[in-house]
Amino acid sequence: MTLQNYQFDSIMREYSRRQARGLRIQQEHRQEILSRFPRIGQIDQEIASKSTSCLRDLLQGKRKGTDTLREDISRLSQEKKELLAQGGYPADYLEPAYTCPYCQDTGFIGSSKCSCFQKAEITLLYSQSHINAILDRDTFEAFSLDYYSDTVIHEATGQSERQMARRAYDAARNFVNSFGRSFNNLFLYGDTGVGKTFLSHCIAHELLSQAHCVLYFSSHDLFEQLAGYAFAREQTGGAPEDILDAELLIIDDLGTELTNSFVTSQLFLCVNERLNRSKPTIISTNLSLKDFSSAYSERTFSRIAGNYQMIKLVGKDIRLQKRFAGNHA
Ligand SMILES: [Zn+2]
Repeated sequence: MTLQNYQFDSIMREYSRRQARGLRIQQEHRQEILSRFPRIGQIDQEIASKSTSCLRDLLQGKRKGTDTLREDISRLSQEKKELLAQGGYPADYLEPAYTCPYCQDTGFIGSSKCSCFQKAEITLLYSQSHINAILDRDTFEAFSLDYYSDTVIHEATGQSERQMARRAYDAARNFVNSFGRSFNNLFLYGDTGVGKTFLSHCIAHELLSQAHCVLYFSSHDLFEQLAGYAFAREQTGGAPEDILDAELLIIDDLGTELTNSFVTSQLFLCVNERLNRSKPTIISTNLSLKDFSSAYSERTFSRIAGNYQMIKLVGKDIRLQKRFAGNHA
C-alpha cells in the first residue's frame, strides 16, 4: 500500500493509544485483584525473590539447575489461578489486554504488517469505515429465503426462485468456508433488489470478522478511485496495486456507473490481473449476461465466465416487499 508518512504516523499513533489503553486496563485489573486478594501480591513477590536467588546461586555455582525453581513457580501460579477462579475472574484477567492478540497492538508480526494494520490502511485510504455499520446488519443469519417464492419457476433453469436463492446462499457460504484454501470468484447477477448486495455484504462481514482484508467498492467508487490514480499520480489515495492485490475485492452494482472506454479497460485490468495473481473477486450486477458482455467487452466477459462461479438470483424486489409488509404491520 502507498501510505504517505503522515498517514503511516496516524496509524502508528492509534497503535500507541491501544498499547496505552491495554496497559491502563491491565493496571486497573491488578489493583482490583490486589485489593480483593492481597495474597496474589505476596505470590508475585515470592516468585520474584525465588527467581533472583536462584539466579544468584547459579552464578555463584551453588546450584546446578532450575528444576526446584520451576516447581515453585508452577505451584505458586496454580495458587494464583485458583484465587482468581474463586473470585469469578477469567484466568487471563491479569494478562495484558490487547485489541489485536496477533500482533499485540504493535501492528507488525516480525517485519510483516499484521492484518489489523492492513485493515487500518484500507479504512484510511478508501474511507471504508462506513461499511462496518452496514455489515453488522447484513449477516448470513439475517438472510431469509422467505422473500423468494417456492412456486414461481424460473424458465431457463426450471428451478423455483427459492431454490435458486438457496443455491446462491450455499455458494456464498462455501466461498467463505474455503476462503484462503481454494481460489474462487463469484459473479452475482439478477434484477434490482433480489439480494445480490446483501449476499456480498454477508461474505464481507464474515471474512472481516475473521481478520481478512476485504476491499469493498460500489462500481462508481471503484472507477472514481482508478480515475483519480490515472489522472493525478501525486494524489494521496491508494494506488491500483492495493486494488489488484487486496485479499478480496468486491465490486458491487457493476453497470450503474457511466460506461466508457476508460471504465471498460480498467475493469479488464482488474479482472485479468487479479485472476493472474489468484486473488479472489466478487462482482454483482443488475445487467443480464448479454448486456454485460456488450457493455464491458467480450474479452472481459470471457475471463469472467471461464473463472467465476456464475450465480443468478431472481424474485420480487425485497426492499419493496419489506416496505409493503411494513405498511401493513
Ligand atoms: Zn494486529
